[in-house]
Amino acid sequence: MADELRTATCCCGDVSITVRGEPHHVHGCHCHYCQRRTGSVWQVSCWYFDHEIEEVNGETRVYVGHPDLTNALEDSAAQGQRPSIDYHFCVRCGSTVYWKIPMSAEMMGGEAVVATAIAVGCFADRDFPVPLSDHYVCNRHPWLEGLEFEHMFEELPTPDDLAAGKM
Ligand SMILES: [Zn+2]
Ligand SMILES: [Zn+2]
Repeated sequence: MADELRTATCCCGDVSITVRGEPHHVHGCHCHYCQRRTGSVWQVSCWYFDHEIEEVNGETRVYVGHPDLTNALEDSAAQGQRPSIDYHFCVRCGSTVYWKIPMSAEMMGGEAVVATAIAVGCFADRDFPVPLSDHYVCNRHPWLEGLEFEHMFEELPTPDDLAAGKM
């Protein structure tokens, strides 16, 4: 439903973000940075834009990290070329609920924007829309083989993939 409201919440409940409408770019990533950042073997997130964000609550601290677009610890050359991402985590429980990603006009194939990515797990909703794509499949744990989405990327989607809506 176009106007559906969904709320993502940290595990202690202090931090939440409520968004309107269907998510953009629901995707997974198996890069080692995402694995370490989440403590999980695989991160799944979605994007919303400013006009779709209804409400944000709770005190966060920000970790200015490398994009989840690189295997950051292994790829320092790529780090320098990419903008940093502000990861917002709950000051009480530490859950990273959402993060702000500056996207250049080139990456968006239009205007530069700041996307708000939200951890799909924080919605705790098994009916949340299924990911369209999966990134860094090269790092996927072997026991996750068989998990297939419409667009599977060995590493990253290109700006052209993004502009074509494949991410
Ligand atoms: Zn919390
Ligand atoms: Zn990643």
